[in-house]
Amino acid sequence: MSTRPLALSDDELSTCVGCGLCLPHCPTFRVTNEEALSPRGRIATIRSIQYDGLHIDEHVSEILNTCVQCRGCEPACPSGVPYGRLIEAAKNEMAAQHRSAPWWQRIGLRLLPHHRLLLIGTPVLAVAQRLHLIPKRAGLSPLPLRLGSPVIATSPTPDVWLFTGCVMDAWQRSTHRSTAALIEAAGFNFGIPTKAGSCCGALHSHAGLSTVAQALATSVMTSMPGTNPIVVDSAGCGAALKDYGHLLGTPEAQTFSQRVFDIHEWLEPHMATIMQSRQIEFIDTSIKPSVIVQDPCHLRHVQKTHTAVRSILSPVANLIELDDDGLCCGAGGAYSIVEPELAGQIRDRKVRHIRAKSPTQKTLVASANPGCLMHLQAAGLIVKHPVDILAEALGLVPTTDQPPTKGTAKS
Ligand code: SF4
Ligand code: SF4
Repeated sequence: MSTRPLALSDDELSTCVGCGLCLPHCPTFRVTNEEALSPRGRIATIRSIQYDGLHIDEHVSEILNTCVQCRGCEPACPSGVPYGRLIEAAKNEMAAQHRSAPWWQRIGLRLLPHHRLLLIGTPVLAVAQRLHLIPKRAGLSPLPLRLGSPVIATSPTPDVWLFTGCVMDAWQRSTHRSTAALIEAAGFNFGIPTKAGSCCGALHSHAGLSTVAQALATSVMTSMPGTNPIVVDSAGCGAALKDYGHLLGTPEAQTFSQRVFDIHEWLEPHMATIMQSRQIEFIDTSIKPSVIVQDPCHLRHVQKTHTAVRSILSPVANLIELDDDGLCCGAGGAYSIVEPELAGQIRDRKVRHIRAKSPTQKTLVASANPGCLMHLQAAGLIVKHPVDILAEALGLVPTTDQPPTKGTAKS
């Protein structure tokens, strides 16, 4: 019987040939220049755990816990190293040894599926934040004092499901309202998950708490029955739902995952109908606002649906691309809270790239992941979700202003 500690095959671990082509695409290597904090270094560490019995002590934990799990190394790798699977297996073992996710993070993660608590607690947190009781290094933009109205299902027999999630439904409800308005403008009615579907488990998976993540995934699957598409407007949640087939390893979970669409990829084929519904044929370039596109890693490297963001925004905005090959912004689920120093350094690099494209420093940034959006807002940038930009431009929802945030990132 094998005594190897990690649930990984030799094939998965042997793929890395050590060429180093992934190094420039790794945000932690870029800011530290340390081999141990590169994909190649981390893979060597994971191999040592598996084959040499390397003890997961504080140093090893730091090497692996500082990985943002952005998976920017995967598309850069010519050997097709399944890095996401490697770090997932390592984090699972670390969580079992209490070497991943500090106690306070575990308490927070335990609360996420209790949606009512999250809704009640959000204004309290918002007040605490304004009283400076939440450390700035947590990197959160201003939380809402009022939640705003939730989206209400438009049919008991929906054409599509709109997954609303936990944190996003508490902190960024206006984006769900924009998504709902766009689905309706495309001519579809929608349903929302039952209470059982209030948390996708993405943050639990990231922390290596795979048993909890599996229980949440099973629950989410019951909350949106049938065969109709499930649209998700959070890149991180969408990536998690699309991974249920792997997480649970059942045919039902695989079928469920195939029903999941990132909102932008779902909207893309319906854009002509949406524009027609607003009686808009064409918006002249001279009056379209400029928008810098920031690709969340879970959209670009994991779901690979980032081009759809451009397709849906280009009719209403002049798009500006960044020159950093989609390098991570440092948000990484709860990474900006658990590893604030590194997350801040990684964000500084991103902010420099964004500011280089915005001479007035006021150009709107589009980001399709709630964590990235808040992380960048906290650096003083003006950031909105692409569906908010689109729905506002088409007059489907009122225009919202971002609460002012004092910038903390170095320019
Ligand atoms: S997942 Fe991201 S942070 Fe982790 S090793 Fe790969 S590129 Fe680096
Ligand atoms: S992970 Fe891929 S790109 Fe990076 S060193 Fe290994 S083989 Fe090369």
